[in-house]
Amino acid sequence: MPKAQETILEIDLNALRHNFEYLKSKLKSNTKFLAVVKAFAYGNDAEEIARYLQHLDIDYFAVAYANEGAALRQAGVTKPILVLHTLAVNFDVVLENCLEPNLYNAKILNEFIAFTEAENQNEYPVHIKFNTGLNRLGFWENDVDYIVSKLKATSAVKVKSLFSHLAASEDLNERDFTLRQIASFKEIAENFSKAIGYQPILHMTNTSGILNYPEAHFDMVRSGIGLYGFGNSEKESTYLKPIASLKTVISQIHQIEKGESVGYNRAYKSDALFTKTATLPLGHADGISRIYGNGKGFVIIHGKRAPIIGNVCMDMIMVNITGIDCKEGDEVIIFDGETTSAETLAEGAGTISYELITSISQRVKRVILKS
Ligand SMILES: *Cc1c(COP(=O)(O)O)cnc(C)c1O
Repeated sequence: MPKAQETILEIDLNALRHNFEYLKSKLKSNTKFLAVVKAFAYGNDAEEIARYLQHLDIDYFAVAYANEGAALRQAGVTKPILVLHTLAVNFDVVLENCLEPNLYNAKILNEFIAFTEAENQNEYPVHIKFNTGLNRLGFWENDVDYIVSKLKATSAVKVKSLFSHLAASEDLNERDFTLRQIASFKEIAENFSKAIGYQPILHMTNTSGILNYPEAHFDMVRSGIGLYGFGNSEKESTYLKPIASLKTVISQIHQIEKGESVGYNRAYKSDALFTKTATLPLGHADGISRIYGNGKGFVIIHGKRAPIIGNVCMDMIMVNITGIDCKEGDEVIIFDGETTSAETLAEGAGTISYELITSISQRVKRVILKS
């Protein structure tokens, strides 16, 4: 692989395929698979990733917002796309792009029915979300009769799936709570199907639930982070391969003496006789938040850790390379699947892999690797 000459995010589609196959191996053969590709496929590249996954055995895609789904249609994605967070202002984008909305409360249900009726739609596919404990989006268990009465009064929409979302599938200390969520969803789904007279697809679990709760697989599973190579547990992360590597180069090396400072607000002051620093061409505008400054984060140069010193700037960071044999132009790894992971970097600064990878901004060049 050629060395990085600027800041790049390398995306390895072979690793993506590996993760997909690993997650599929946890499912029964007839369980459907929904790939969550919201937020640029977690900061990677939603279009490349969705186009690639479409040729594997993927049944569904999900995005958070309608515009993300429209971009996938533009990129040639033809499989069904669930919009997880439907907003009324985007109904026309939903319809124009054949996206399938999540209807999660009475307001959005009634508004979408009125909209599709006005547009002369017949059995437009919709998804109904129930809240079983996350308390974020979703109808309540006792809304079933109300929803069914509204649905029976129209032919403009038809329910493709019922779903819910687990609050703590990665946290085995919350096992009792999770099992109650699963039981509650099961009961809701039974009541709903009986009342409406047909059987929508049922789905509840995200990546950690695929791994930890086979009883929550139902008819389909939804995976985001697992596809991108993180399992929210040390054990699972050994089976999965991070698909993205963030790399850059050393722009300039400085030698500073005791008492000199580095960067804005003089946040780093050298107390060693001699400190060698490297300036790197990426900063908080590229997704390396200020929380990684002042020693919370590090990069890898020739296999050695170089801590980030001082405050993270918009377009640059400075790292301490004292004792590391390196020169201007040498490659720097911020995270990859082998030397150091996004999970380690994120945890060191008190956040999670999800936040770090989804923050890598559109300014960073994406390089797709595929064999
Ligand atoms: C983001 C999201 C997922 C994916 O979760 P992962 O932990 O990344 O697998 C699944 N379902 C819903 C409703 C989501 O919002």
